[in-house]
Amino acid sequence: MPKRADLLADIEAQVAFLEECGAGFLIGERPRRSDAAPPATPGSGLSRSERLRRALEAPRADRTTPPGAEIPEARATALPAFSYGSFDNLVQTINNCTRCALGRFRTHAVPGEGSLTTEVMFVGEGPGRDEDLQGRPFVGRAGQLLRKIIAAMGFREDEVYITNIVKCRPPENRPPHREEVEACTPYLVEQIAHIRPKVIVTLGATPTSFFLPMYRSMTETRGRFGEYLGLPVMPTFHPSYLVRNEGNRELKRMVWEDMQKVMALLGRK
Ligand code: URA
Repeated sequence: MPKRADLLADIEAQVAFLEECGAGFLIGERPRRSDAAPPATPGSGLSRSERLRRALEAPRADRTTPPGAEIPEARATALPAFSYGSFDNLVQTINNCTRCALGRFRTHAVPGEGSLTTEVMFVGEGPGRDEDLQGRPFVGRAGQLLRKIIAAMGFREDEVYITNIVKCRPPENRPPHREEVEACTPYLVEQIAHIRPKVIVTLGATPTSFFLPMYRSMTETRGRFGEYLGLPVMPTFHPSYLVRNEGNRELKRMVWEDMQKVMALLGRK
């Protein structure tokens, strides 16, 4: 049973993210001019916390799928056999890896973290400075935003799995080179084969172009499910892009729209 304080912290993170991404009207914030006018509903005079509480308690059937969300089925038919044995062995192999030059410069490899039975995996580009120092994915500024997004989706951090295309930090945070991606992604594929998520969320161009090789640009690709080895893949913007464009509510709104499609696919909306 989760503790009351943990539940309240989750709800607070969810509210903060909804407000930041311009979806504050869902929880009682006055709509901006550009937002569609919400219909008058009974109880619209309720306080924000009461509305949120009621929304969270509403039975699932009352939470509708957004129009236009195409919902593919996870088939995972083509996942490969394991080459590294158990998940622990795989993590140990990653921690000791010297397959490419990135291994020479790392403080820590960053295999990933979270639930091995999760329905949703988030895949970023590669560790940055903070991640290299701590050996954990997405712990810097972009990571804090990603974790807010995850909370706003109604997940605890330990209910999802977060990882990257490359497991060691590229110098100066440059995008990983092709040979580094080729050396490292067998680990990612094997992580996916162990975890068998129902959906993969790719964050930014590097992971999106790995999973969906027809990728041309994030603007064109985001928000529509693709498929990788029978699994649905939802591409969205990298949180560091959102951090760099902090005042751009439209970007946050788009990411939130993409995540709502993921939640609909998982039956969580
Ligand atoms: N950016 C990424 O793509 N991954 C991390 O782990 C941190 C920042």
